[in-house]
Amino acid sequence: TQNNTKNVLCDPDHCIQVRGARVHNLKNVDVDLPRNALVVFTGISGSGKSSLAFGTLFAESQRRYLDSVSPYARRLIDQVEEPDVDAINGLPPAVALQQQRGTPSVRSSVGSVTTISNALRMLYSRAGKYPRGQSILYADAFSPNTPQGACARCHGIGRVFEVTEKLLVPDDTKTIRERAIAAWPPAWQGQNLSRILVSLGHDIDIPWRELPKVTRNWILFTEETPVVPVFPEYNLAQTQEAIEKGEEPHYMGTFSSAKRYILQSFATTQSPRTKKRVSQFMQISQCPDCDGKKLKRESLSVKFAGLDIGELSQLTLTELAMLLRDAASTKPAVHVHDREKVIVAQRIASDILARVEALTTLGLGYLSLERSTPTLSPGELQRLRLATQIRSQLFGVVYVLDEPSAGLHPADTQALLGALDELILAGNSVFIVEHDVSVIRHADWIVDVGPDAGTHGGEVIYNGPLDGLREVTKSHTRRFLFTSDAVEKRTPRQATAWLKLAGIKRNNLQGLNVEFPLGVMTTVTGVSGSGKSSLVSQALVELVNASLGVKKSDEAPNGEAELLERELETATDGKIIDGLEQVRRLVTVDQKAIGRTPRSNLATYTGLFDHVRKLFASTRKAKARRYDVGRFSFNVVKGRCANCEGVGFVSVELLFLPSVYSPCQVCQGQRYNDKTLEITYRDKNIAEVLDLTVESAHEFFANEAPVLRALDALLQVGLGYLRLGQPATELSGGEAQRIKLATELQRTQRGDTLYILDEPTTGLHPADVSRLMSQLNGLVDAGNTVIMVEHDMQVASSSDWLIDIGPGAGDQGGLVVAQGSPAEVAMSKTSRTAPFLST
Ligand code: ADP
Ligand code: ADP
Ligand code: ZN
Ligand code: ZN
Repeated sequence: TQNNTKNVLCDPDHCIQVRGARVHNLKNVDVDLPRNALVVFTGISGSGKSSLAFGTLFAESQRRYLDSVSPYARRLIDQVEEPDVDAINGLPPAVALQQQRGTPSVRSSVGSVTTISNALRMLYSRAGKYPRGQSILYADAFSPNTPQGACARCHGIGRVFEVTEKLLVPDDTKTIRERAIAAWPPAWQGQNLSRILVSLGHDIDIPWRELPKVTRNWILFTEETPVVPVFPEYNLAQTQEAIEKGEEPHYMGTFSSAKRYILQSFATTQSPRTKKRVSQFMQISQCPDCDGKKLKRESLSVKFAGLDIGELSQLTLTELAMLLRDAASTKPAVHVHDREKVIVAQRIASDILARVEALTTLGLGYLSLERSTPTLSPGELQRLRLATQIRSQLFGVVYVLDEPSAGLHPADTQALLGALDELILAGNSVFIVEHDVSVIRHADWIVDVGPDAGTHGGEVIYNGPLDGLREVTKSHTRRFLFTSDAVEKRTPRQATAWLKLAGIKRNNLQGLNVEFPLGVMTTVTGVSGSGKSSLVSQALVELVNASLGVKKSDEAPNGEAELLERELETATDGKIIDGLEQVRRLVTVDQKAIGRTPRSNLATYTGLFDHVRKLFASTRKAKARRYDVGRFSFNVVKGRCANCEGVGFVSVELLFLPSVYSPCQVCQGQRYNDKTLEITYRDKNIAEVLDLTVESAHEFFANEAPVLRALDALLQVGLGYLRLGQPATELSGGEAQRIKLATELQRTQRGDTLYILDEPTTGLHPADVSRLMSQLNGLVDAGNTVIMVEHDMQVASSSDWLIDIGPGAGDQGGLVVAQGSPAEVAMSKTSRTAPFLST
């Protein structure tokens, strides 16, 4: 809340001068930015903040860096993208800490992304306590990702696939002919296997459970693959007789046990359906050899502070810091041999301690080193990387960050600001794109981009210290910084019924009882790590889905890693004891990507592209050439560019860098072949239509009701600036979430739907938040329920009901601290959210 008094100067000798920036929607922007300062880029979504901070400044810095390291990489990058800017002077090297888009691999963990795990391995190797007689192990032996360290049974994954009789044969009163073995392939193949069993002398017409145990085990689990003559028409006795007489068989059949079949199909099938089917029969359990600790026994026998490295990695960072603090301050004993070891331990421990503390300061003390990164939110991951940077002690660098406050409770934001200040003190510059008012207030310098989104934005409407923004009337940001009338005051709605949950156990929730009001808007608040997502996005979603008979996931797992990840999610303990009859449907609107490849985009996801293709197929020229709707799909061979197969891009692999996409040389990114592009609808071809923003498409399709409906919904959630063909891979989590919301809004409202949202305001300017709130209020007014996890106090204060989880993070949280209307919660003495509510 205090204004910054630091006097930041921006004289030509000490600043970064940008001239003529035209990236995306930027309108020939000239701007001078101070170095060694906290510069915050503000403006509504789509105004051009990222285009300036990431698209221009960071992209140019990266290009120059690559230029200096490798002419080869330079050539490739050249093809990719050179920011459209006349000149940038005084630009230091830049490091971007952007929020991750897409899913990182299951093997990366908090320990590996922060590199703390490397240091821990060193600690165990050099200063660990070995059992008598065991020789010293190299650091590699403590890593599950090396052959020296990995448990041989589970290959360092900590889990193994199991295929049990219960899973393979769900109903043991059935006979084999009645398909007792549910895991067998369907249709002919399954029939073939039962015929083979007949040839092998088994009775397939008695109930499964009456078969001897050895037989059942062999049929389900054997690795043998006998080849036998098959007589499809014969029964058991006839078959045996035919075999004895050496009769000519119909064919020779190869047997494969159910387990072999399942594991093999899972590993090799290309069909998502088959993969999904077989994965139902596989169960994942903790590896019995290493107890899930991923390492060889001998590595696990080495202890530090009485714990093996697996146990140490399971501690929360706060606990780990405590343990290391002890180790770092232990007085060396007199015994010479031990003494040396203690000194080594001290040195390594204090180095690790400093790094762990950088994480706990940023409010991440509730994480453990072994926590896999896919289970972290993008904001947590960005803060992890931020903490790692603070420790790396670079100077003279510009850090470019994307909404670092995402996922942070207002009570945690101070620590974040402290960390950013440290980077600046060390001689760096910090540029951030941010919407959070308390972060904006902390800035030394504001660059307000706008005034509006897309073509209505792209100008720097203010550039200077915070206070000067007060005078800029056309700035949307100004209104939220300098006035307090932004929060709408309204009387809370009354619940129509209550959804009552009892005995919830999940992560840090220990048998929680909690009631959610139905027919109103509820916000669940609490510091990061307090258990909000565990309660809402995990427990509540799972329990409601289970009672509505919805399966965990409809999508086939993408490879073993994803399957493991999915299965590792243990089921929630607890139940819903009341209120379920009021909920007919559950919709979760999350920030997961809407597609993994550039093939899916805004137009395909929302369904509006189907209508657009129909319009093209119904033009006179298309009819004359007999082009159907399929012709206008970039997923269908006949209409698309053959070189890039309709993607518009080809991927370029760079050594040491993530692979990048470069526009297709044949179609110049248009995705279609020339013949298809000859067809126009109202003077635009299909590629040009995909290039329209939602906003311009709204004018272009003014008379096409079905297309308009989808476009309307997208406009309502503030996405008018997106292009119809914008690939799913280019969308931020917040945008993906709003697209899902828009898709939901264009449906007919039936009421009785429960909407669950996890931090819907991420990426939204306060002005956009107001718009989102009126959408959500519309859903509630139509008889639905909205429950969301949010840190934005504008949202919390204008909800009907608040549930504050806490009081702290991890073990210190997991309880309902306060609940009631915002006004009631604001009076709580124990809630850490209360002081931030404006009622
Ligand atoms: P902000 O960061 O303020 O939300 P952006 O800089 O992301 O805004 O977007 C500004 C404008 O540039 C928008 O109209 C957006 O659709 C457009 N834009 C963003 N990314 C791309 C891209 N990769 N190609 C073309 N246009 C883009
Ligand atoms: P919030 O949503 O309030 O930030 P979470 O529900 O994500 O908090 O986390 C609550 C606690 O549960 C934290 O201690 C966190 O580390 C732990 N936790 C959350 N998700 C997982 C997970 N997938 N595996 C293990 N621990 C988890
Ligand atoms: Zn193992
Ligand atoms: Zn092409």
